[in-house]
Amino acid sequence: MLPEAGAPWLLRLLRDTQLAQFYRSILEELNVTRPEHFDFVRPEDLDSIGMGRPAQRRLAEALKRHRLGHKPKNWVYKILGGLAPEQKETTPPSDNPPSLPEPEGGLKCLIPDGAVCRGELLGSGCFGVVHRGLWTLPSGQSVPVAVKSLRVAAEGSAGTELRDFLREVSVMMNLEHPHLLRLHGLVLGQPLQMVMELAPLGSLHARLTAPAPAPPLPVALLCLFLRQLAGAMAYLGARGLVHRDLATRNLLLTSPCTIKVADFGLVRPLGGARGRYVMGGPRPIPYAWCAPESLRQGAFSSASDVWMFGVTLWEMFSRGKEPWAWVPPYLILQRLEKDQARLPRPPLCSRALYTLALRCWALHPADRPSFSSLEGLIQEAWPPEGRCVRDVSEPGALRMECGDPITIIEGRFSPSFRSPSSTTWKGQNGRTLKVGSFPASAVTLTDLKGSPATCPVHRDSPAWGEQRRGSADGARAKAKLREPPPAQGQRRNMPLQRRKGISKSLESVLSLGPCPTGGGLSPPELRKARDVPQGPPGLPPRPPFASGSSQSNQPPRERPSWPKREPLHSHPLGAPGASKAAVLSGGLLPDPDLQKRVMEVELSVHGVTHQECQAALRATGGDVVSAIQNLKVDQLFHLTSRSRADCRHILEHYHWDLSAASRYVLARP
Ligand code: ATP
Repeated sequence: MLPEAGAPWLLRLLRDTQLAQFYRSILEELNVTRPEHFDFVRPEDLDSIGMGRPAQRRLAEALKRHRLGHKPKNWVYKILGGLAPEQKETTPPSDNPPSLPEPEGGLKCLIPDGAVCRGELLGSGCFGVVHRGLWTLPSGQSVPVAVKSLRVAAEGSAGTELRDFLREVSVMMNLEHPHLLRLHGLVLGQPLQMVMELAPLGSLHARLTAPAPAPPLPVALLCLFLRQLAGAMAYLGARGLVHRDLATRNLLLTSPCTIKVADFGLVRPLGGARGRYVMGGPRPIPYAWCAPESLRQGAFSSASDVWMFGVTLWEMFSRGKEPWAWVPPYLILQRLEKDQARLPRPPLCSRALYTLALRCWALHPADRPSFSSLEGLIQEAWPPEGRCVRDVSEPGALRMECGDPITIIEGRFSPSFRSPSSTTWKGQNGRTLKVGSFPASAVTLTDLKGSPATCPVHRDSPAWGEQRRGSADGARAKAKLREPPPAQGQRRNMPLQRRKGISKSLESVLSLGPCPTGGGLSPPELRKARDVPQGPPGLPPRPPFASGSSQSNQPPRERPSWPKREPLHSHPLGAPGASKAAVLSGGLLPDPDLQKRVMEVELSVHGVTHQECQAALRATGGDVVSAIQNLKVDQLFHLTSRSRADCRHILEHYHWDLSAASRYVLARP
């Protein structure tokens, strides 16, 4: 038995249930190496290895106990603790057998390269490309997935990109929420690949901006998305994490009515008494979505995520428009702070929802609502649903037919005016998805169960929802709402796609210098400059970024650019320890014993190439076990900033189980 193929947890579990005789068959015939793999094992599979039904029941019970016994209380705490900036590096494990339980709730494992087949390109980001893929489970079942591969970067930048990539993995492997994109596992090949849940419908931004004939999204669905987003963010915040890149481009649609938060590359742990993360240096951030304190001090917190939530709400109701596209980037902070300007209310957005957005944009982080309270606030601001009670075809009015479901965006009443008969409301026809005004008398409200309300809506306040929100908060009251300036020629009409390089990229807070061409948008390359330590003109100098809470300064090592796998016969083996018989004049004839050993090494170490195995065998004089161990140390070494000696120690601790050791180091970057 090769060390990698071993599964000590399984052996223990089978011994405890007097089923140890099935260890090899379960491992080798059913390919079960992790508890989650049992999810895909059917009773017939166990029949096929000769396990009787009573034994199967015993095994099922033991597995249940195993899972219950490993509820991730300590584990989650340890992982998140490991991420916290002020937390000291966890000491390497002792020589005792590992006592850390496995993380529960999903297959966050190392996935063999061959088990994932990549298909069409879905998109590319800063440091990775994403492909659609098919992952074949040990049971033979195929699961559609998205595979994000670390881009082979230009010289010099790979360290940062690798670090960000691994950080994203280490964050995702500990998250489990219905509205957070799920990580299935990691392929330690070259390039490194993250295997994630597929969002077959793409990003919400793409959906919002899809040209006709794609229908606009119903307002009620947008509200549902907001609630899902608030729930996911409350979960993230409760784990002491800040996302820092909330935007519709990072919300993926896994079904027509389900969004999932994705792109965890900028996620950071919150630390210190103030529960903030302060950037340790110039790094790109999406400034048009950022809270003032993030732009000014590089400070991020759950409250700055709430600000971004408000901008994301604005994007949703603006059909994916770009926030602050009409303001030069270096002026955004000034507009927010000095002018107290806020993004204008989009036409689709009810006053109640806009009020909510304004609360998210309170200047002082403490004045913003929390994500958990946002869930309730969204519920309160939810636009009422009505039903059309007569056909409406008046010129200029929203066309409706009797029975059409209507989402009411706006209904205004004067306090003295109790009848809606001559009042005009604004709403969305749920059948045609068109938005417009209509006579209020044409619609009755429906209650939550969809039955008509007993009487039409009567509200006394200027706008629905507003009277329920309590006293206006100071920041909101002070906020001076500015509509965008009149169209600025071509710039305002420039299609979003053409501005993509500018607006969708993650920008540096330190690149907010004035545009050298005198106003307007600066070219992308200027906006992307990362190291310009310059503040906006006319504003006090930005305080230096605190370095104490910055991320680890030691990026993981770059992997050497190993050659791709090639057929066996193309690799000469003339090193000491290799059989001389392997090399003959004029070419190669494989030495069967040597080839067997190379194969054995290759099969035992996840993500290594044939050539690496040959080199490893050469270095150990043909000793298979040492070659395997050295390669595992190498693999782990490239995942972390630890020394090789540490990596060896960790692997020994995990009985040379590379998967378990990788999980350990990834959880403690
Ligand atoms: P960055 O990583 O630079 O912030 P990004 O969010 O555009 O930018 P990625 O997360 O690498 O980059 O995603 C690239 C593209 O692939 C995006 O357009 C995204 O919509 C798409 N994508 C990412 N993950 C998935 C997924 N799980 N399913 C479907 N599409 C995806």
